[in-house]
Amino acid sequence: TKSKRYPLYLGEEGLTALRSIYQQLQPKPSSVLVISDSVIAPLYMKQVTEALADADIHTYVIPSGEKEKSFENYYAVQTYALEKGMDRRSVIIALGGGVIGDLAGFVAATFMRGIRFIQMPTTLLAHDSAVGGKVAINHPIGKNMIGAFYQPEAVIYHIPFLYTLPEEEWRSGYAEVIKHGVIGDAHLYDWLQKEILSLEDLRGEKLQYALQRAIAVKAKIVAADETESGVRAYLNFGHTLGHAIEAELGYGRMTHGDAVAVGMRFAHLLSERIYGIELARKEFEKWLLGYRYPKLPPELNIERLLLRMKQDKKAELGVIRMVLLKGIADVCVEEVPDVVVLDTLAQFAQ
Ligand code: ADP
Ligand code: ZN
Repeated sequence: TKSKRYPLYLGEEGLTALRSIYQQLQPKPSSVLVISDSVIAPLYMKQVTEALADADIHTYVIPSGEKEKSFENYYAVQTYALEKGMDRRSVIIALGGGVIGDLAGFVAATFMRGIRFIQMPTTLLAHDSAVGGKVAINHPIGKNMIGAFYQPEAVIYHIPFLYTLPEEEWRSGYAEVIKHGVIGDAHLYDWLQKEILSLEDLRGEKLQYALQRAIAVKAKIVAADETESGVRAYLNFGHTLGHAIEAELGYGRMTHGDAVAVGMRFAHLLSERIYGIELARKEFEKWLLGYRYPKLPPELNIERLLLRMKQDKKAELGVIRMVLLKGIADVCVEEVPDVVVLDTLAQFAQ
């Protein structure tokens, strides 16, 4: 899939940006459907529809939560769009976090074989999901099992929308910012350690800067992956164990970012073992725990975690492949024998 280039707006004037991007769409949209969730819509829907002024606007609000990224909601939105007479020249705007971005994006990718969509992420975590062109819904058998590669016309990050995010959502999204620093931007990594002493520092210009650098890492890796396949796997740093923890606890018991933070600490330990090197592992741990990222929940059984890691989508033939670290912005994908993973997990759990 060749991705097209599209504008990314990041700043305090996202509504103005939306208006001008919308007005410049060619061919002119026949109508627009803003899709959002029940937490975000009461806060921001009005501002968004007002920015679109004279357009023929419809809105659709789904309940908030990961379980709403469902076929039922997908179908209900399609039905609504058809009933409202939307056509190939209609546009969808996704106003929300990853759930809305993925669901609305997949609706856009498939309605009338694909209509234009604009993404307005309202979470910090969505800096990750909004870049890279993946859209999907969940199936009871697995997350993101039904989806497509589909690029938006634009991604518009209106920074002021983020400030109502609950604290644990800040922490969750920030884990992916840290990840992007670790895998691809040593300067960002150092800057975060120096400037973001607590999550409350993630405001205004600092927030904007951190987001911009993190998005740049993601965009660069996604673009590189189109030529030399494989680098996209780097984005999985911290996720092999992170996903296993989420699945073992039951989805929603720990935020994605909290689980990834645990996974990133584990990847440090494993990297030191595999490569026989010393990383700033203790410092990294202290740094993350300072933001109140959790430790590995003691109730989790490490053999079961290992099994989950072997079932990971990215594990081929049950061989655990993990993104490991030789240094900041210096990562490799390695096949790690089960026994080594298990033994390191045992040490990590102490
Ligand atoms: P992500 O996958 O990006 O974390 P979700 O769609 O799962 O995003 O949203 C996480 C939670 O935060 C949901 O309960 C959602 O309703 C809520 N939420 C999203 N954006 C905001 C916001 N700007 N202010 C307050 N709550 C928000
Ligand atoms: Zn992630």
